[in-house]
Amino acid sequence: HGRIHGVPRNRTHPAIPQQPLLTLILQVQGCKPCRTKPTPYQGRAARAAAPDYPRTHDFVWEGCVMNYEETYRRSIDEPEAFWGEEAKRIHWHKPPQQVLDYSNPPFRRWFVGGETNLCYNAVDRHLAERADQLALVAISTETNSTREITYRQLYREVNDFAAVLRHLGVGHGDRVVIYMPNMAEAVFAMLACARIGAVHSVVFGGFAAHNLALRIDDAKPKLLIAADAGMRGGKLIPYKPMVDAACAEAASPPPHVLIVSRGLDAAEPRVPGRDVDYATLRAQIGEVDVPVQWLEASEPSYLLYTSGTTGKPKGVQRDVGGYAVAMAQSMETVFDCKPGQVMFSTSDVGWAVGHSYNVYGPLIGGCTSLLYEGLPTNPDPGIWWALCEQYNVRTMFSSPTAIRVLKKHDADFIHRHDLRALKYLFLAGEPLDEPTAHWISEALGKPIIDNYWQTETGWPALTLLPGLEMKPVRFGSPGFPNLGYRMKVIDENTGEEVAPGQKGVLVVSPPLPPGCMSTVWNDDSRFLQSYFSHFKELLYSSLDWAIRDDDGYTFILGRTDDVINVAGHRLGTREIEEAISSHPRVAEAAVIGVKDELKGQVPLVFVTLKQGLDGEDPAPVVAEMMATVTTSLGAVARPAHVHVVNALPKTRSGKLLRRSLQALAEQRDPGDLSTLDDPSALEEIRRALGR
Ligand code: ATP
Ligand code: MG
Repeated sequence: HGRIHGVPRNRTHPAIPQQPLLTLILQVQGCKPCRTKPTPYQGRAARAAAPDYPRTHDFVWEGCVMNYEETYRRSIDEPEAFWGEEAKRIHWHKPPQQVLDYSNPPFRRWFVGGETNLCYNAVDRHLAERADQLALVAISTETNSTREITYRQLYREVNDFAAVLRHLGVGHGDRVVIYMPNMAEAVFAMLACARIGAVHSVVFGGFAAHNLALRIDDAKPKLLIAADAGMRGGKLIPYKPMVDAACAEAASPPPHVLIVSRGLDAAEPRVPGRDVDYATLRAQIGEVDVPVQWLEASEPSYLLYTSGTTGKPKGVQRDVGGYAVAMAQSMETVFDCKPGQVMFSTSDVGWAVGHSYNVYGPLIGGCTSLLYEGLPTNPDPGIWWALCEQYNVRTMFSSPTAIRVLKKHDADFIHRHDLRALKYLFLAGEPLDEPTAHWISEALGKPIIDNYWQTETGWPALTLLPGLEMKPVRFGSPGFPNLGYRMKVIDENTGEEVAPGQKGVLVVSPPLPPGCMSTVWNDDSRFLQSYFSHFKELLYSSLDWAIRDDDGYTFILGRTDDVINVAGHRLGTREIEEAISSHPRVAEAAVIGVKDELKGQVPLVFVTLKQGLDGEDPAPVVAEMMATVTTSLGAVARPAHVHVVNALPKTRSGKLLRRSLQALAEQRDPGDLSTLDDPSALEEIRRALGR
């Protein structure tokens, strides 16, 4: 039983010589092989392109579970055999010659010699079987528009976009910066770059000119693609003035700016010779089928910057082959979303989640992807669930920050929708506090799957894998290492693995699995220094602090910089934040450690309330919060002070900027604020601290 389930869909395994026997075995086990269905890449076009390449997935088994432990072990013990088999999930123009080259640690190359293309896998490959299936649904509650795009239409849009890029002289290896809101053309632009082998660098549309200029100077792009405007909460945000300012500030501005006009801000003057209008050029060129540029598996596919929570953002460089395989695999094993099914990620394309699970994952997987522009509360806080109902969403992906926004409203906004199709809600990006997890779990009645990953990893590192085996959800923990991640929790001083229940630093033993970053763009030494230089042994770490329980569930306690040492007791900011958040009036809490002469450090708390104070004396509610902390964590964790504020300083990707809070509290410079969302939040903190 275990052997068969442990062999992923392998029809050539000696235990499974032929189908009748397989059927018999499965019937004895109470499972049935539900359908014999070729997967899309076994379509005629794919076979013609690579006739000798072995086929996989002869059977798709429904109702059977594959054992997580066994599959995970195989991914760790026999990485080359495991990933060699997994590589067959995607289309290769030329099959890889070598699964892994690890001759220059910690740099590694997956699927060496293989040639493939992200756009071909995300678009062309599906035309044989699902041309009329929806590929992308772009919904905007800002412009009140919905665009439903089939794979056939996506092919057209991407080819037309690619033709425009080629016309502007963009080719293989050139960089293209994309500065757009969450709209369909942002996806077309990314895929068009991938098609012709250009390296895209998407800059979140909410960033201001300075951030854009920094990223332009890092990538030195041949082209900048920008929308004329975005909207946030009904307010027009013209992009063009920011584009102009960024080009003026950048040392190496691009020769051309391609403007995708949404008709929102047509009045902005164009710079002659530099600015080009997308619609005009597209009409001039007409329909052209642009050939795919096949790329060696480890060539760069795109650049993307980290959130800048701990300092200057790092330019993550991703490859082609490993990333495509990781996307194809995770859509099935982690997100349990198969071809033809629907995924809704509420992320912006400007973030890692947007790249992987709005664009490449669902499209490589032959799924339908929903893209959403707008606030989660507009026209009412039920909008996301209305979309889930309307499009039969199976897998939803969002962030704890977004759920905390919804938590301020009545759960009835969820209950009034028919969510029978929805199977899972995945949440990632920052710690999912238990009160929020409980609230959304009760309101939805579906598994809430916490997901731990980083821009660097590009796909989940710690997660449950319901597509393989649905392990019980344990609140507070994102679960287990994803396939291929050799994870440990180690003592930061000795480097030894700590016992279950002990706190330590989360590390990954290289080589990093496919899909993770290749290096920091143009800066191998920053790659080594930022991620591999913390311990004697060569280990990858982004310095998150964790604890593993007896059953192997890992809990993230925060970043190592966020550890507070009160008179020798080491406390995670997250533990105190959780305690404070359990107070019914608290919307969100940020805890930092500040220097204290007596105790070394003491916790300082900033909270926002669900309903503001409105002139009420904060003392009683603050006293209750203090009591909650003392009861759940002991007197040692008692905060020195609790400040009630209206907003907490966050990065544009919604992460608390604890380092800046701490710097202000300790009267230091708040550091790199280029990714700060709302400057007035930091001003309020300054005032609260009397600075
Ligand atoms: P920078 O690296 O520039 O300082 P950042 O680390 O916030 O910014 P991201 O890649 O957006 O950049 O975030 C990854 C980090 O987010 C992780 O290292 C971790 O600290 C945190 N994180 C992500 N998911 C979770 C989760 N499920 N639980 C706890 N923390 C999480
Ligand atoms: Mg980081």
